[in-house]
Amino acid sequence: MASKKGRVFSGARPTGRQHLGNYLGAIKNYVALQDDYECIYCIVDIHALTTVETTEDLVDNTYDMALDWLAAGIRPEETIMFVQSHVPEVMELHTILSMVTPLGKLTDLPTFKEKVRLQPNNVNYGLVGYPVLMTADIALYKTDVVPVGVDQGPHIEFAREIVRSFNYRYHTNVLVEPQMKNTEIPKVLGIDGKEKMGKSNNNHIELAATPEETRQRVMQMVTDPARIKRTDPGNPDVCNVFTMHKIFSPADEVAMINVECRRAGIGCVECKKRFAANLNANLEPFRQKRAALAENPAQVWDILHEGAGRARTIARQTMAEVREAVGLPK
Ligand code: ADP
Repeated sequence: MASKKGRVFSGARPTGRQHLGNYLGAIKNYVALQDDYECIYCIVDIHALTTVETTEDLVDNTYDMALDWLAAGIRPEETIMFVQSHVPEVMELHTILSMVTPLGKLTDLPTFKEKVRLQPNNVNYGLVGYPVLMTADIALYKTDVVPVGVDQGPHIEFAREIVRSFNYRYHTNVLVEPQMKNTEIPKVLGIDGKEKMGKSNNNHIELAATPEETRQRVMQMVTDPARIKRTDPGNPDVCNVFTMHKIFSPADEVAMINVECRRAGIGCVECKKRFAANLNANLEPFRQKRAALAENPAQVWDILHEGAGRARTIARQTMAEVREAVGLPK
């Protein structure tokens, strides 16, 4: 711990089995950051309540997500992994921070406007306060670095403003201004090659899919749209399959495809078959670890509960300092 550079926190809503977009855009980074930082990763179930129509799947989705995170390489012996609602101090900090947050700024955020467009019949109070709860998540653990996709930029900037307002208002430096850390691949495209990969677009490839399911999804991937016939030369620079090859395939194969595609030496079907094989080979250790973990669901829940216990120790300490700074009666 002594040699760590600082504390990392990131949260994601319990969306169940994770896909390649989640992996490349977030989880891969979560895993890598463990080497240099004290890491805290949270499944934000309270945030999910702002958008879900039913909570029926909340428990299963939380479990599936935890399983994927662990199988991908989160190390619970050192990293704290927990469920947001298990540390209720975050709700208290959210309320306190809401008093230093201008309402107009919240309703001006593009993400809020987008949510209003998507669910006009459910513009609830929690939806407006989403960035404040997110700030509370981050600030409760005195987070230095938040690894997120670029889409979260305005929220992190907002979190910094709220922290500054709190510290200024109460003449304190109890809360820490977080820095954003973008992932290497902030936007992974789906199998349609157009939209961001996501469950709602049904253009995703799940990490936990079987090799055959994965192969089928890969074979549906859209390649260079200008390449119609097998004999047409392709352009790997605009092909999502080639982008994926660069991540999952050996360098000599990537170099070969880069040349052969441009002179129609290799067709899209062959190219996708190769990608499916390489992707499956890459995912094999993940799948084996996931299957082993799934044999003992209680152990996964134990990891989450134990993580919540460790998170709560930090949270209680911060809240004691926050209450003192605000001047609340002891
Ligand atoms: P949330 O709304 O809680 O962030 P998501 O499932 O949309 O839940 O995303 C979880 C994490 O995965 C986020 O950090 C997000 O940036 C990342 N992510 C999701 N889809 C993609 C994608 N297609 N490309 C890159 N990153 C993605």
